[in-house]
Amino acid sequence: MTPQPNPEVGAAVKAADRAHVFHSWSAQDLIDPLAVAGAEGSHFWDYDGRRYLDFSSGLVFTNIGYQHPKVVEAIQRQAAHMTTFAPAFAVEARSEAARLIAERTPGDLDKIFFTNGGADAVEHALRMARLHTGRPKVLSAYRSYHGGTQQAVNVTGDPRRWASDSGTAGVVHFWAPFLYRSRFYAETEEQECARALEHLETTIAFEGPATVAAIVLETVPGTAGIMVPPPGYLAGVREICDRHGIVFVLDEVMAGFGRTGEWFAADLFGVVPDLMTFAKGVNSGYVPLGGVAVSEEIAGTFARRPYPGGLTYSGHPLACAAAVATINVMAEEGVVEHAADLGARVLGPELRELAERHPSVGEVRGVGMFWALDLVKNRRTREPLVPYNATGDASAPMAAFAAAAKARGLWPFVNMNRTHVVPPCTITEAELKEGLAALDAALTVADQYTE
Ligand code: PMP
Repeated sequence: MTPQPNPEVGAAVKAADRAHVFHSWSAQDLIDPLAVAGAEGSHFWDYDGRRYLDFSSGLVFTNIGYQHPKVVEAIQRQAAHMTTFAPAFAVEARSEAARLIAERTPGDLDKIFFTNGGADAVEHALRMARLHTGRPKVLSAYRSYHGGTQQAVNVTGDPRRWASDSGTAGVVHFWAPFLYRSRFYAETEEQECARALEHLETTIAFEGPATVAAIVLETVPGTAGIMVPPPGYLAGVREICDRHGIVFVLDEVMAGFGRTGEWFAADLFGVVPDLMTFAKGVNSGYVPLGGVAVSEEIAGTFARRPYPGGLTYSGHPLACAAAVATINVMAEEGVVEHAADLGARVLGPELRELAERHPSVGEVRGVGMFWALDLVKNRRTREPLVPYNATGDASAPMAAFAAAAKARGLWPFVNMNRTHVVPPCTITEAELKEGLAALDAALTVADQYTE
């Protein structure tokens, strides 16, 4: 139920925000954040009473939607019983969350190291890999995002790395497969896959295999454009890692917990990494939580030797109680199966149908509730609708597209020349169709910038 609009309260919230909140990744004076009054399920609303269907799931984390009553109630129960407790104790919510996660992670990833979010999960995965192997370097993909803390930003490929890259991080970037904008002059998925694996093998040979601790990859790269890897690529990386004694880290912070229509995207490919990071969907972001699922072998390295790292709030009981309730809701309500079904039957086909009618859509790609439209100026040349890392006037076509979507009650996810279609995994078919109709209308605005 949307409460009565209250623009005065909205104006006060906004004024305090503008005066005192320092926003991430933003030029403070150039942003205009919406004052949000409430949220429920797949929608949120502002103080003027405008409702938005959230095709962004926040930052791709509300996999079960906003304010799920069972999770809200579990948080309230945990708060009444034990709001907090230090990490060095066995606490029911924490041990139960770890058990439920370990039951669902692939292979023998059965020990869970809890963090407060995704970036610190990546930090610890890389530390574990370096300590386990005794090697200094990490290899990661150019088209990637792994988080905003120092080492996570170092392994990130997108332009957010540039400002804080010291150049001495022990990180080497490589090209992962992406046929639509192939770096390998490939024309088929098979060629792209084979050449990307050969390129990775060559990179390792020239870096010196005995210096490489880990390869870290998003199972399905998210922020960089939702690029589902070709069949065989991740299995190929697994084989390369095995041959060289390199730790294989899969980052499932965005792709995990139902987003791709599997509990983990690794399940789409039948691949088991040595370390797997998660956050976001683990409890739909209701309370900050992330972690690393650790293989038996790497956990064994720290069986009789201390692991040198930790966090005050590791496995916070409130966050873990929210995770237990979220995972149970997902299992009881068939959320993962729903995301797979709706993706294959409705979202994928309807996005492809939109692409046929809109010249601005260069490519549609994705799986489950995890899709991207790659918007272009020209379908033949595939020139992006806005240049790489564009800001200000240069990004105007994407801003016009986003404004058109919002005017129709749809909150889109926009990144560079792409719009990602990443609604809650619990979205209903009727809501999804309503959002797609608004997207259809907004794309006619993007079309005006094509040539
Ligand atoms: N890894 C991936 C794949 C992500 O998508 C993100 C966040 N978008 C992160 C790591 C960082 O997570 P957080 O913002 O919770 O630190």
